[in-house]
Amino acid sequence: MPGHDYETLMPLAEAQELAMSRARPLRPVRIPLDDALGCVSAEDVRAPEDVPPFANTAMDGYAVRSADTVGAPVELDVVGVLAAGAAPTVAVGSGQAIQIMTGAPMPEGADSIAIVERTEAVEAGKVRILDEVTPGLHVRAAGSDIGAGVVAVRGGTVLTPAYLGVLASVGTGLVRVHRKPRVGVMSTGDELVELDPDGGTRSLAAGQIRDSNRHALLATVRRDGFEAVDLGLVADTEDAVTERVERALAECDAVLSTGGVSMGEFDYVKVVLANLASAAGGDAAVHVLQVAIRPAKPLVLGWLPALGAGAGDPGGRRRLIPLFGLPGNPVSCLVSYQVMALPVLRVLAGHRAGPPPTVPAVAAEDFWRHPDGKLHLVRVHVGWRDDGRLEARPTGGQMSHQLAGMAMANALAMVPDGDGLAAGEVLEVLPVGPIG
Ligand code: AMP
Ligand code: MG
Repeated sequence: MPGHDYETLMPLAEAQELAMSRARPLRPVRIPLDDALGCVSAEDVRAPEDVPPFANTAMDGYAVRSADTVGAPVELDVVGVLAAGAAPTVAVGSGQAIQIMTGAPMPEGADSIAIVERTEAVEAGKVRILDEVTPGLHVRAAGSDIGAGVVAVRGGTVLTPAYLGVLASVGTGLVRVHRKPRVGVMSTGDELVELDPDGGTRSLAAGQIRDSNRHALLATVRRDGFEAVDLGLVADTEDAVTERVERALAECDAVLSTGGVSMGEFDYVKVVLANLASAAGGDAAVHVLQVAIRPAKPLVLGWLPALGAGAGDPGGRRRLIPLFGLPGNPVSCLVSYQVMALPVLRVLAGHRAGPPPTVPAVAAEDFWRHPDGKLHLVRVHVGWRDDGRLEARPTGGQMSHQLAGMAMANALAMVPDGDGLAAGEVLEVLPVGPIG
């Protein structure tokens, strides 16, 4: 029987460690540079040549011999003009200057630039240099950004726009990165109603509610830089859940489902994952967790073999897909994603492993609570105070169905088990959106 254990309340850090313990980066692929924003590079990229490739001027002005400017103002003979992109044909001799534009190569003989603002036109063919210039002034040496042979971008780097620019500057058109995980998202629940594709509002029959989790999760997955795959709504039957999970195992690198993980009569997600893990055997596993947090206590964490074309890795071993049976309550679902699923998805995408980082903030109000064995994750808005410190203020209703309060929050405040804390005390917050 593969791992299939019903846990008692598990501290968050332990649950995160368990979730991340099997996560490995996805196999690297080579993709066009312009598609690589946010990806993690999978190899060191060395500069095959100097950047810049030749010494050039950083300013518009005159290329001169610095020795000629001693005792400035001095007058020099202008023997040419150099634009960016031009190749120098004449050298700068003693007593001479070449007019030069930013980016143009330094001509032979010249060692510095007199900027145009500090020169005066005199008679045709002459220029007056007003200041002495020092050797090398305003000259950008070949290789002064990145030298030939130097590692321009290390493996493991998150490719920001500026790093993509660096790769372009060393001529890398295709870049080897960890593939972005394809993350499937499904909502389970017989009470759920799909949005009207025509923009109307479908009326709700008795007992029905609208599916908000799938839309919020699909967007969250995209926001975090992964590829989102909409796996739709799933009815509360064992067959329906099995069919959709199997489809997900053929199409996705990770799966998020919501609902059906509590203690209810029709909570099939854990049953289905446990059955599939049993059938798969070997290293497949399912953990039915009660994480010591509020909200988002229940979580089913599965590792099941990929099906179909993507089933194996190069070593011939079968590839295991992480599945997160997130709670159905909308706030719990998003909180569980942040603290449990996101760290695993980040590892798949090649990011350094680790729990999500928190930052300290001053409690703007009292955060009283009662001891219950759980870490409370309070939805807060975090902003800067005049003294440069962050402060955290709870946003709206804090019950696990009150999504409006979650929407106003840009962080989750960690209020440890106990009686809470008073306004002015410092707590750790986990950013879940832009701070400001
Ligand atoms: P469950 O975990 O399936 O027992 O669901 C817990 C609560 O969350 C119930 O009140 C559900 O109606 C609600 N819920 C479950 N799935 C969704 C969803 N996709 N969107 C909005 N609410 C949901
Ligand atoms: Mg349900």
